[in-house]
Amino acid sequence: MITINEHYLKLQASYLFSDIAKRVATFQENNPDKDIIRLGIGDVTRPLPKACITALHAAVDEMASDASFHGYGPEQGYAFLREAIAKHDFQDQGADISADEIFVSDGAKCDSGNIQELFTTDIKVALPDPVYPVYLDTNVMAGRTGVFADGRYQGITYLDAVRSNNFVPDLPKEPVDLIYLCFPNNPTGTTATKEELKTWVDYAHEHKALILFDAAYEAFIRDESLPKSIFEIDGAKEVAIEFRSFSKNAGFTGTRCAYTVVPKECMAFDSKGNKQAVHPLWNRRHCTKFNGVSYPIQKAAEAVYSAEGKAQTRELTDYYLRNAAHIKAEIGKLGFDCVGGDNSPYIWIDGQGRDSWEFFDLLLNTAGVVCTPGAGFGKCGQGYIRLSAFNSHENVVTAMERISAELK
Ligand SMILES: *Cc1c(COP(=O)(O)O)cnc(C)c1O
Repeated sequence: MITINEHYLKLQASYLFSDIAKRVATFQENNPDKDIIRLGIGDVTRPLPKACITALHAAVDEMASDASFHGYGPEQGYAFLREAIAKHDFQDQGADISADEIFVSDGAKCDSGNIQELFTTDIKVALPDPVYPVYLDTNVMAGRTGVFADGRYQGITYLDAVRSNNFVPDLPKEPVDLIYLCFPNNPTGTTATKEELKTWVDYAHEHKALILFDAAYEAFIRDESLPKSIFEIDGAKEVAIEFRSFSKNAGFTGTRCAYTVVPKECMAFDSKGNKQAVHPLWNRRHCTKFNGVSYPIQKAAEAVYSAEGKAQTRELTDYYLRNAAHIKAEIGKLGFDCVGGDNSPYIWIDGQGRDSWEFFDLLLNTAGVVCTPGAGFGKCGQGYIRLSAFNSHENVVTAMERISAELK
């Protein structure tokens, strides 16, 4: 008899985006002339940078002749890309990461979801609330939680990100082994200072814990005092793994390229309490279960680091940050408490006593603007909505004019 992994039955069906779609469809039926502006989904809207497209075309042409064809590449990624990443994203920023500590992949979603395979199921997992759901659901699937009750899975240590801690979670009160952090944060848009990250690194050393740091939005950081990588923090290499992606900085959401940094010094422990390096384990897993990102896509990603590529990705993120600043300013004028939007494409808005879905319906039905209800990201998201800067500037301006007219 073929039996299933029953941990999957514990998963809460994610109705978030289908519920949004249903409400939007109903609104459109009742208001066929109203044009809806979507500031809900966390997907970019602008095309790939020219430098990436040029490199992609050239690489596609290489695949057409015997002499320059590429078959299977190295599972960890081509040296040209790993070296460019190590130099530009780390060494030039003062973080001592080498090319062989970079694992190129087809997404930070997959990597942040798969990494937990390396660890036993009896470890204690801590993750933020509100949270990017991938961290939580993959641990549920692996059997690291009990059942879902009162809006939370038993056995998980939730790190509340709330007004009282400026949406940067405090250290857990009980000891934990695996800690997920994401800065700039999705969904709240908040950032963490070097001092704040240092407290987590110190905690990890003290408790023999490991930090999984999701830096998918680092390209939106403009405040130079803020860390872009956890490896800017002393001692982080022993206790942290970092996820990066070309999705949000260079528009690769549909093209797929990302990478994970596992420093050679990064350690976990075997059942006897002996230190074991994590790098060879992830290398083994990656080579066994993954066969590399396609050559043309890696060439396109490499172009992000050319002089033109850097200027063009900067222009892309500047464009979205201008949208974010506009949203934040207009929301502020209406008297709402909000965070994010400065070094992040997301703005997290307190509904002033409104339930997340009530606030969602209000924006949709009065202004024709789609947001994301905060409750979809966890219990602490209740009462909030997330607005995203991923849309054209014209649409963002129109959306904010409509919201301002309705809510002032
Ligand atoms: C968008 C996003 C990513 C990037 O995922 P990809 O699979 O690389 O597209 C990673 N983490 C968070 C929190 C995100 O919002």
